[in-house]
Amino acid sequence: MSRWWRFFAWVLLLSNLVGAQEPTPSRLVVLDKVFAPMPVLWADKEPYAPIGDWLAALRLRWVPSQNGVAVETPHHQTFLWTTSTTEIVLDGQRTEVAPLMERQNELWVPLISLARVLRLTVIVNAEKQVIKLASALQEISVLQTSLGWKVTLTFSYPLPVPPKTGALSQPDRAYSDLAGVSLGDLPIPSSPDPNFVVRFRLGQFSSDPPIVRFVADVAMPATFQVAGKEQGRDGREHWHLLLQPLAQRPPWLGQVQCVSNASHRAVFQLFGWFGGQLTIRQEAQVVSVPLPTPPLLPSEFLSMDDGLVRRAEILQTKEGWSLQLALREPATAVAQQDESGWLLVIEKPFFTRRAWLIVVDAGHGGKDPGAISPQRPNQPPLVEKHLTLDIAFRLKRLLEQGGYRVLMTRTDDTSIPLPERVAVANDARADAFVSIHINAFPQPGAQWGTEVYYWTPQSYPLAERIYRNLLSLLGRKGNGVRQRQLYVVRHTFMPAVLVEPCYINHPEEEALLRTEEFRERIALAIFQGIAEFFGDLTLERRGE
Ligand SMILES: [Zn+2]
Repeated sequence: MSRWWRFFAWVLLLSNLVGAQEPTPSRLVVLDKVFAPMPVLWADKEPYAPIGDWLAALRLRWVPSQNGVAVETPHHQTFLWTTSTTEIVLDGQRTEVAPLMERQNELWVPLISLARVLRLTVIVNAEKQVIKLASALQEISVLQTSLGWKVTLTFSYPLPVPPKTGALSQPDRAYSDLAGVSLGDLPIPSSPDPNFVVRFRLGQFSSDPPIVRFVADVAMPATFQVAGKEQGRDGREHWHLLLQPLAQRPPWLGQVQCVSNASHRAVFQLFGWFGGQLTIRQEAQVVSVPLPTPPLLPSEFLSMDDGLVRRAEILQTKEGWSLQLALREPATAVAQQDESGWLLVIEKPFFTRRAWLIVVDAGHGGKDPGAISPQRPNQPPLVEKHLTLDIAFRLKRLLEQGGYRVLMTRTDDTSIPLPERVAVANDARADAFVSIHINAFPQPGAQWGTEVYYWTPQSYPLAERIYRNLLSLLGRKGNGVRQRQLYVVRHTFMPAVLVEPCYINHPEEEALLRTEEFRERIALAIFQGIAEFFGDLTLERRGE
């Protein structure tokens, strides 16, 4: 390298160092959820946050891809964002973006660029280190119907929760609270009928997390009720509310939405006002619910391919309108009233559910011993690979007794590459993956306690339950549920965790690990966490 080149490279290196500051604990508000402290890199042009849980608060799904991530939006559009991307096309719209930043083995997302791509409003207060991503209320329209006034609110991004509605008196007013929403500059519709609605008002009810309140000042007691929603193909969301006088409120149906339809459980949301009653009729494998009116809005039924509900339709019969659900297998239907109407839950009895498949991964093996305890006279050292296999077998027994199916990535002292361990779980379409390890610290005796690692958002609930059970059964120090890009939890498609119940090179924990009783406890805690995660073990039943 010539002298000049060396000088130039040195300047480049120096300028990189100046640009890359340390992350600062900041407050990131994503729609209605607060993530604080969140490490944020306050670079020249925009703040960056490391890829993590907070993306799930936007209902985004993401998978790691070469030097970046592939992201899927709530309206099922995908885009790729890498460390060299400068432009993203979404819904036919081009947006200039900053590339992802790679730092300390993590990918960092430029937040202003993200907001532009997704049409979110971004509010940045660099001084106070607060960043808020909100959906923008873009449009309000009012339409008279035979049932009352229909108000349609259009948002730039799907709301995290349905609008909350209610009525207040003195003076009479009906309101709707819109969480995760920021107020743009938009015209407020005038009252369509001053004898009923005095005026409409709009205000930022709270700013952190942001909530917008839409109010109708009314001449007589009245209330809003959610009638349903529609998703635009451009990702925008339209929510419909019905404003009715409380005195004369005939029952009506706004919309039926299939919330979920899994093999053992299906949930339908019925928006509207049913006069406080919902009747369920069930004959063999057909559930029918009489409806007060035909739906005001087109219904949203998910694909009924594999779920418990084979077919859902709204029918008109001699007796009137009804929702009819044809089930694939016998199940029971129950209804729960909520603020927006009713939830209809169809569930298979516990004993007929499919046995969940759990992949148990004993860490290390063969030529890779893992961590080893310090040398002691008269005692053989403990080797991580032997302990993990011992605990894995105990866990397998407990799971099988509990009605689960189990696959092990290894059953003897052999070395299995990480991609193969992941492939066992992915190929078998397992329902959960648990990798068992024993921790070690560079300075023996300096660190001790329990950690559980996960990467994808769907894995967090499993990690949290296993962690809580480990703490209560082992009584060690809790070092946290940590999100880390470890290979086996990063490349598995199902909820996946890696447990580090204790430290092999802490004298007290080493002594505990030498006892069969303690290793059985570790297995039992993991088992209980899994059973809680799948809803097979509730706290009440644990007390038995
Ligand atoms: Zn290990």
